[in-house]
Amino acid sequence: MSILDKKIENYIFGDISTNELLSLAFEKKLKHFGSFITYSPKVFIPLTTLCQDSCAYCTFVKSPKDGGTYLTHEEVDAIANVGDKSGCFEALFTLGDKPEAKWSFAIEELQKLGYDSTFSYLLENAKRVNENYHLFPHINPGLMSNNEIKQYKKYSPSGGLMIETFSNKLTEKGRAHYGAKTKNVSLRLNTLQSAMDMKYPMTTGLLLGIADTKDEIVFDIFQLIETCNKNKAIQEIILQNFRAKQNTIMRNNSEIINDLFLRIIATTRIFLPGHISLQIPPNLVSDVRLFLKSGINDFGGISPKTIDWVNPDHNWPNIENLKILVEENDQKLFPRLPVYPSFIDKEWLSPGIYEKVLNSVNESGYPKKHELIQ
Ligand code: SF4
Repeated sequence: MSILDKKIENYIFGDISTNELLSLAFEKKLKHFGSFITYSPKVFIPLTTLCQDSCAYCTFVKSPKDGGTYLTHEEVDAIANVGDKSGCFEALFTLGDKPEAKWSFAIEELQKLGYDSTFSYLLENAKRVNENYHLFPHINPGLMSNNEIKQYKKYSPSGGLMIETFSNKLTEKGRAHYGAKTKNVSLRLNTLQSAMDMKYPMTTGLLLGIADTKDEIVFDIFQLIETCNKNKAIQEIILQNFRAKQNTIMRNNSEIINDLFLRIIATTRIFLPGHISLQIPPNLVSDVRLFLKSGINDFGGISPKTIDWVNPDHNWPNIENLKILVEENDQKLFPRLPVYPSFIDKEWLSPGIYEKVLNSVNESGYPKKHELIQ
């Protein structure tokens, strides 16, 4: 066990009180992000609910028999239009990973739409949304190659790929990623490396609760910190708590308890490079107030108009109510673009996106205009 490993274990599972841990983490958050907590006003565009994998907790994915399909250009436009009119900045393209690798139905659907791959269809939709709306496409298509990222980057300032866990044991029979080829840890790290090679700002993170032993949790946090130390493309970490969903294999699995979740968040903030944003999804926690001084500085995408397609049973919080809770904790809620201010740079953004971003932000890198219609 390395020194860092040992420290992480001591912080999460040792004698230090949760309050003490939280105050160390909050101090570091204040140093790097001040009193702001940000969120990204977004619309969710589930370009396809088909996927080549079937993870044990996923309700997003659907087989052709159960209605898995692609959105048409018109359907994408309709969502983007609503997002634009509502004052959102982010068009979150989240979709199943290259469904054509498994389903001939996906190939047929793509052909009907006039495309030969999910990649080319997503690229065209990102281009259209970027050109026709104020929105910025944030791309979450699963694994990505250098060339795919190079193309996406023309129309998108940032993308995402959750690592979820660094333990390949989760691909064993009976566990969350059994049979899910795209959840292989090396393949996911390759995508993050490709983002680094192509200079594409990325979000990644963990799904806490699918790795459940003490050793697996310590290993996950240690590997996450190590990855963030090496990979300069990572702008944001999501610590997402697993929620058991009906009609899934993992419907009876336990969810992480608040005290352990808080200790993991605080420990991550303490060891994470200071500039990296730390996010929890506010619709998945039982009481958001518990987390406001845990070291987080962001609530991620919140949509005034579309549901959370990945966790459809969990409604987004009302922004005005969230604002009040944040202010009661002596902080301020503020919107942001999908790309963070420290990545607004010609090195990280394509020329067209850089110009569009500059037109949208103030000198601090946050949106000039932010009137959200809920
Ligand atoms: S979690 Fe992602 S990779 Fe797994 S089945 Fe769902 S959409 Fe596919």
